[in-house]
Amino acid sequence: MADLERVRVEAKNLIARHLDPTVWSFAFDNAKTRAGLCNYGIKRITVSRYLASRYDENEIHQVLLHEVAHALAGPRAGHGPKWRSIAAGIGYVGKRTHSGEIANDLAPWIGMCPAGHEHYRYRRPTRPLACGLCTRRFSPRHLIDWQKREITQAERRRASASAR
Ligand SMILES: [Zn+2]
Ligand SMILES: [Zn+2]
Repeated sequence: MADLERVRVEAKNLIARHLDPTVWSFAFDNAKTRAGLCNYGIKRITVSRYLASRYDENEIHQVLLHEVAHALAGPRAGHGPKWRSIAAGIGYVGKRTHSGEIANDLAPWIGMCPAGHEHYRYRRPTRPLACGLCTRRFSPRHLIDWQKREITQAERRRASASAR
């Protein structure tokens, strides 16, 4: 299992290599349902302390690369072609290990709030939705921006293979 101090050192090294370390920082958070987050508002990459203690070091490395790629690609890129090519360029191979993420891998609608929280839907939301992690009531400041993506046959196969 990943040692939290080593995760922190690795995160700082990745930020120094790929981003501006005077702008971007790293912290742990307490999320239980997702491994990492790229917060564009405060320019911080966070990793779940809870999941970091359950993932191995390779998996955490992939989580960090996933989030660094979001920081490089910008909030509008979502998981689209720009993000995918940046992520692949820095070594992200997209290995998913967490069952919640496997389900999300196949959801065609990906939404992102201004703070970088990701949301997944199998159908296009019929009305504007605010991010439930940022606000309890509907607020246009926390509106989720939805993008449709193509799920390839290869991704379907990978998701069902890793679900076993
Ligand atoms: Zn992502
Ligand atoms: Zn949010």
